[in-house]
Amino acid sequence: MAAGGESSNKVVVSFTCQRCQCPIILDHSFNSIDEHTLAELHLPLYAPPPLELGEKAVDSGVIDKYVPPVSDNENHGFTIVGGSELTSQQSQLLKTHMELFDILSNNTEIDHPLCDECCDTLITLLESEQRAAEDECKQYEDFLKKLESESDTEDIETLEAQLKDLKVEETKLVVELRELKVDETNATEALESQRKQFRQLKEQEEEFMKEYCRHKRELNELEDYSQSLDYELRYAEAQSERLEKTNALNATFHIWHSGHFGTINTFRLGRLPSEPVDWNEINAAWGQCALLLNALARKINFKFSNYQIVPFGNHSYIKASIAGFNVLADNSELPLYASGGFSRFLWDTKFDQGMTAFLDCLNQLQAAMLERPGQSGFALPYRMAEKGKIEDTASGKTYSIKIQLNSEENWTKALKFMLTNLKWALAWVSSQYVQEEIVGSTSTNTSTISKAY
Ligand SMILES: [Zn+2]
Repeated sequence: MAAGGESSNKVVVSFTCQRCQCPIILDHSFNSIDEHTLAELHLPLYAPPPLELGEKAVDSGVIDKYVPPVSDNENHGFTIVGGSELTSQQSQLLKTHMELFDILSNNTEIDHPLCDECCDTLITLLESEQRAAEDECKQYEDFLKKLESESDTEDIETLEAQLKDLKVEETKLVVELRELKVDETNATEALESQRKQFRQLKEQEEEFMKEYCRHKRELNELEDYSQSLDYELRYAEAQSERLEKTNALNATFHIWHSGHFGTINTFRLGRLPSEPVDWNEINAAWGQCALLLNALARKINFKFSNYQIVPFGNHSYIKASIAGFNVLADNSELPLYASGGFSRFLWDTKFDQGMTAFLDCLNQLQAAMLERPGQSGFALPYRMAEKGKIEDTASGKTYSIKIQLNSEENWTKALKFMLTNLKWALAWVSSQYVQEEIVGSTSTNTSTISKAY
């Protein structure tokens, strides 16, 4: 900032720097711009509208740069003269300056005027921008040169070859695409058919599943049934085993005693004055005896000689075929029953013959038993040596089985001995039967025979 070349301390400052806002003192040369130069400057450039500085119309572009007069004697040693004191010549000059700055500002991106410092800074900035622009320009030039230097013909040949190859490949790919489309159609058809099959299989599966469930249920029911049958079978086997161990004859014919009487299946056989047993009971007992003796003989395949026992409940009898035995010249049926009623004497004779025949049959059975191998030492406990008589082995006394010429006590005792012999015979036949069973089932353990009894 230099002081004006005036003789006094007064300096006219009318503008500020447009960057740093410092007041600017214009160079003297600005004062000597003639109209010709100004017109020249105007020519190619934009002509701003005429400025009307002062009271009313003030251009905004101009007013920016215009600084109202300031008095600053104390600090800077100069005074800015106010507009009111300007002469018309000065006003004209100021207008010219403003116009000049407007022309500059409108033609560049920088607002004018500028101070020296800002101008220097701006120049430095512009210089660096210029260098950068120059570098960029050089790069573009180099690139252009490079592009121009590259041979176009080779490229075209290569590209044409490439294009040819690519066209061949395209043709190949089109063919391939067509094939693939055919494949796709086939695959779609196959898929559809597979889906159809899948649906059918699904339906079949459901059907099978239902059937399976039905069979499963049936199986369960059958298994239950089978199990219950199994239980029944096991029960039956257990029963069978138990029954096998049970002797049928023993179970069927229970020979025991009741007081002085021998009994068979609870029927008393015999009669005492103190206990007159009903004849029906005696007859029934004889019926059981006949049945048992017959069964025993059949069991060991023995046939009585001269006699045939006919079990018939309480009217059982024995058929005799011995000539001369039939003393009453009646038919040969010897009864094993009596009534004790009317015509008793005649009947008792036949009854006695029946009972004697029965004892004879029992004796025959004993003989048959003894004939069996290994049975030589066997004998029934009461001997039946004489016809119609049975011997008490302990006392050696014999008792008649006949009712005539006999006491009821002795008759009853004879019958009891006869029943005991019958019981022994039963036990013997049972043991034979079991032994045969065991031999039949290939078992050689004979100790079980004795164990069974
Ligand atoms: Zn400045």
